[in-house]
Amino acid sequence: MSELLDFNYPPEPAVDRVTLFADVILPLPLPKLYTYRIPFEMNDDVLVGARVIVQFGAKRVLSCIVADIHENAPADYQAKYILDVLDDKPIVTAPQLKLFRWIADYYMCTIGEVINAALPSALKLSSESRIQLHPHFNPEEDDIPFATQEAKIIYALQQNQALTFSDVGNLLQIKSYHKFIKSLIQKEAIIIFEQVSDRFSPKVVKKIRLTEHFVQEEGMLEELFNQLAPKPKQLDILLNYLQKVPVHQDINLNYAGIEKSALANNPHLSKSSIDSLIKKGVLEQFDQIISRFPVDNSVPLKPMTLSEHQEQAKDEILGLFKEKDTVLLHGVTGSGKTEVYIDLIKHALEGGGQVLYLLPEIALTAQIVTRLMKVFGDKLGIYHSKFSDNERAEVWQGVLSGRFQLVVGVRSAVFLPFHNLSLIIVDEEHEPSYKQYDPAPRYNARETALMMAHLQGAKTLLGSATPSIETYYNCKTGRWGLVTMSKRFGEAKLPEIELINVREEQHRKNMHNHFSGKLITAIETRLARNEQVILFQNRRGYAPFISCDECSWIPKCKHCAVSLSYHKYNSELRCHYCGYHERMPHDCPACGATTLKSMGFGTEKVEDDLKLMLPNAEVQRMDLDTTKKKNSYQQIIADFETGKTNVLIGTQMVTKGLDFENVSLVGILNADSIIHFPDFRAHERAYQLFVQVSGRAGRKGKPGTVLIQTRDPLQPIFRKVHSNDYTSLYEHEIEERMRFGYPPFARMIRITVKHADEKISENAAIVLAKDLTDQLGRQLVLGPEVPYIFKIRNLFLNEIHVKLPRENVNLRAAKQAISKVIQQLYQLPDFKGIRVVADVDPA
Ligand code: ADP
Ligand code: ZN
Ligand code: ZN
Repeated sequence: MSELLDFNYPPEPAVDRVTLFADVILPLPLPKLYTYRIPFEMNDDVLVGARVIVQFGAKRVLSCIVADIHENAPADYQAKYILDVLDDKPIVTAPQLKLFRWIADYYMCTIGEVINAALPSALKLSSESRIQLHPHFNPEEDDIPFATQEAKIIYALQQNQALTFSDVGNLLQIKSYHKFIKSLIQKEAIIIFEQVSDRFSPKVVKKIRLTEHFVQEEGMLEELFNQLAPKPKQLDILLNYLQKVPVHQDINLNYAGIEKSALANNPHLSKSSIDSLIKKGVLEQFDQIISRFPVDNSVPLKPMTLSEHQEQAKDEILGLFKEKDTVLLHGVTGSGKTEVYIDLIKHALEGGGQVLYLLPEIALTAQIVTRLMKVFGDKLGIYHSKFSDNERAEVWQGVLSGRFQLVVGVRSAVFLPFHNLSLIIVDEEHEPSYKQYDPAPRYNARETALMMAHLQGAKTLLGSATPSIETYYNCKTGRWGLVTMSKRFGEAKLPEIELINVREEQHRKNMHNHFSGKLITAIETRLARNEQVILFQNRRGYAPFISCDECSWIPKCKHCAVSLSYHKYNSELRCHYCGYHERMPHDCPACGATTLKSMGFGTEKVEDDLKLMLPNAEVQRMDLDTTKKKNSYQQIIADFETGKTNVLIGTQMVTKGLDFENVSLVGILNADSIIHFPDFRAHERAYQLFVQVSGRAGRKGKPGTVLIQTRDPLQPIFRKVHSNDYTSLYEHEIEERMRFGYPPFARMIRITVKHADEKISENAAIVLAKDLTDQLGRQLVLGPEVPYIFKIRNLFLNEIHVKLPRENVNLRAAKQAISKVIQQLYQLPDFKGIRVVADVDPA
């Protein structure tokens, strides 16, 4: 490694050449940009927005993005040379660089942190990055011309499977080896991966289709039938094929074929008949790499015609876009917002612009992506965190090259290299999951999307059945446009909502575990009618904590101030904050009693109990624990969609935007755990959650019912949920927010002080709060306060809230003052090891 790094090149400058410098963004939390010297021979090759390789510090060699090129040598240090140029075209666009700067400024972090979050790892190279052979590349067969150095790398990869970049440097014994790696990537001979777990291994299925000339040539199919008449078994296969893949209706369907297993899916049909037909050349077998989101070709797309309401909403939106950049579509659950979006997307794409469609949760993308695929086909790119690095890098490149004109994605899709956006859709705009809270950048994708639209002259459509108070306020004050859809699509009605008083039911001995008799009966009736049920419980795991009946011992996390949750399926106690886990003890470690009891309940217990009570029901659970694998969401949703399961139990994952036509009952098992949350947004959040989860019922004609279990049915929030009265919620909330100076009337910045020593953390927070008060004034600084969960990952927390009024405060200056005060705190010897995190607009 080291001989690779000590370099004395390039040669002395020729007299008449310009000396150029590049400011680069390193993917590291550095407060400023670093300037590197461009070697003369690279003068024409270094571009703003492209990656170059530099050495940083004594040992590290890594890729970074060029932010600026100029002729000014840095004043306070000797610029090192750029080692290599990776891209001959920018991979970060000009509007993106502006956006990244805005994110860093607004959310009080460094641009390096932004770049680090933005770029897929496969585009961030370092001496630790690894390469492997491309899965489709066969060195024996492919005769692509390779340079000697390239051939060396390929040979080494055949022996070793994977090499790090530094291995390659050692192998070739030259400093600028990156160009060979780059060229091999372009020739699709190798791919880069960051972690071993990310190694790219495509899934392949064996598929069958008719040989082309039977489909393409007139009369061939009829003739085939005649020929096969004496072979009834083979004829059956053929008939089964045509039934599943109706090529006589659309010959293009043949291309995708059918999975071999699905073609011999009943006992009369034999696999050997398929093989005979393959031998005869009637059928052919081929491998297909399973795409990330399988497109179901067997159901041809029925073009949807917008209803009158939808048509009207669309016209209103387009009308408002003439005057305003941002419009909210406030449409009740099931009003058919998605189709309105699709129409607007078509419109925008036809105008030649790019479109970004943001969704809060990947659970949701599965359904919407299938729908969008059918309309937009391969113009559609998909971006989310369950994708591997290579897949994400592919979408990134696809946006740059114009292959993907439309991208549907979660939060991080705002980082993609668009340059010509004309429309951004933020679906379920109220969702807290648009906000990233750790690590930096602690950005909100909705706000970032608005800035992105502003920078590119695009329009933004926000959509929700339960808009955030801030968004609605912007509409009410006329800053943004507002379009309303108050009816469900078609014949569907909003569901009936009924409260169940758990306290009373307990008195009447009518509670079975956590189910009221009423809820159980309701579930049974729906299942008997072949309808489906969604059950919502806010917590995952079996129980939020366990306790000893004898001595009241409660197991706590070793690293955090929380009790451990009990997960029954793997008999584990687990911390939901740091991941610490241990075996569920058999006896109480404190007193030895065998009376450990689980307290409260999570989704796992709901599942367990329900399976005992209704052994015939097909029950599935969707929460963080059951969706760790890449495609598990899709599987769970598909099973529910096709009716394979009849009850879906889940955390908030089941509340968001999912559309199932056969769900006639939604049960909320413990509404009180949602309402009692100490936060100024508690009411808003509770309303959104209740209305959204209720909104999954009765979406297609069948009337829906929502049963809410609570110990206190008189709470005012239920009245608003019951009458679907968003306006009254809004009016109540906005008045409170005004009175107490909360958003949208102020901006909040939450500053968290962390230290392993409780006392140091507290003292530092006191000093920080005092300094902030000196800078900003008494009335803007609240705290410090010890948060409810006061220790996470062995660090003791103290919080300070800064409240900056909308009017008469220079936000930028205030943030700069805060940053400065934090920097000063870091300098104080008493507080060595302190960490301070500023979170702007905390969720
Ligand atoms: P929302 O997102 O507003 O909750 P969806 O977009 O999911 O509502 O639409 C609700 C249901 O109505 C979906 O099943 C959708 O397929 C159906 N739907 C909406 N618009 C149309 C249309 N124009 N023609 C046929 N079905 C439609
Ligand atoms: Zn005990
Ligand atoms: Zn923990």
